[in-house]
Amino acid sequence: MADKKASVVIIGSGPAGYTAAIYAARANLEPVLISGPQPGGQLTITSDVENFPGFPKGIMGPEMMNLFREQAERFGTRFVEGMVTSVDLSRRPFLVEVDEGRDCWSAETLIVSTGASARWLGIPGEKDYWGRGVSACATCDGFFFKGQEVVVVGGGDSAMEEATFLTKFASRVTVIHRREELRASKIMQDKAKNNPKISFIWNSAVSRVLGNEQGVTGVVVKNLHTGDEAEVHCTGFFVAIGHDPNTQIVKGQLPLDEAGYIKTHLGSTKTDVAGVFACGDAIDSVYRQAITAAGTGCMAALDAERFLEHWVDDRP
Ligand code: NAP
Repeated sequence: MADKKASVVIIGSGPAGYTAAIYAARANLEPVLISGPQPGGQLTITSDVENFPGFPKGIMGPEMMNLFREQAERFGTRFVEGMVTSVDLSRRPFLVEVDEGRDCWSAETLIVSTGASARWLGIPGEKDYWGRGVSACATCDGFFFKGQEVVVVGGGDSAMEEATFLTKFASRVTVIHRREELRASKIMQDKAKNNPKISFIWNSAVSRVLGNEQGVTGVVVKNLHTGDEAEVHCTGFFVAIGHDPNTQIVKGQLPLDEAGYIKTHLGSTKTDVAGVFACGDAIDSVYRQAITAAGTGCMAALDAERFLEHWVDDRP
């Protein structure tokens, strides 16, 4: 199949990808945005977004991503539904293959905004009961646990947010954390700790998810100090232990840090390959906010635009 040509190909459709698309489209670069496995990104599995400026009353994550997409579309972004299965950054223009070759693009510049994905514990039962009580998204699945007991694993902002959200439905929420100190911000901790429906089990890890044909029936919890194990009854088990960057497709072609985040040059979205820019959660292990992702998405489009104006391929 002949490659289709684009001056800018954007991989990923979260706040970073859409913002890059808005800027690149307004610069008349007719960007192509390849949406990835979860169009709209992580915000499509979030409830209220209350900290994105411009939405004083808050906005639902999926609705916000629809608005981002609409804005990118308005200025001429071309959308491709599919998953980028490989990129070749050793040739120029770069080659971007979608769905194992169903679609191929040759790109003068590439913006990698592939985001991050939820981490799993990898314990027995977790996969077996996935979708039957095991979840990584309270917003998506909380509704199914009306009047039931649920467990949340993790001690960060995500875990506190999930636990607090789940109290809208569940009769009891037990947070299990491997230390006795939470990593979450003070405000999120206080919200969870002051909620009468939430209780904590400290210094403990879930070692197994139990269940039957109906789904999850409980978890086995191990105290990490004493080694003692106990069963905690629950019908919902929510894993909220952080995320990993989705950077496998560029591994070996772009430098990554030890956690897998793409390394960019200080103060820009440039990578070590001229013409390839990276933004959003794929480069950010620190802030990981929609607004910071959108900010670096904007930077990536401006960097790509400047690159296209000035770069001369002087390789032999
Ligand atoms: P995080 O801050 O990395 O926290 C992950 C939590 O999971 C930590 O408490 C960690 O324990 C625990 N954990 C990790 N691996 C584990 C394992 N294998 N077994 C058991 N526990 C494990 O991740 P996050 O909560 O997803 O937050 C990520 C970023 O997004 C943060 O910057 C956060 O502020 C932001 N965020 C903000 C909001 C908000 O403002 N509304 C909401 C969600 C997230 P340790 O503490 O022992 O390491």
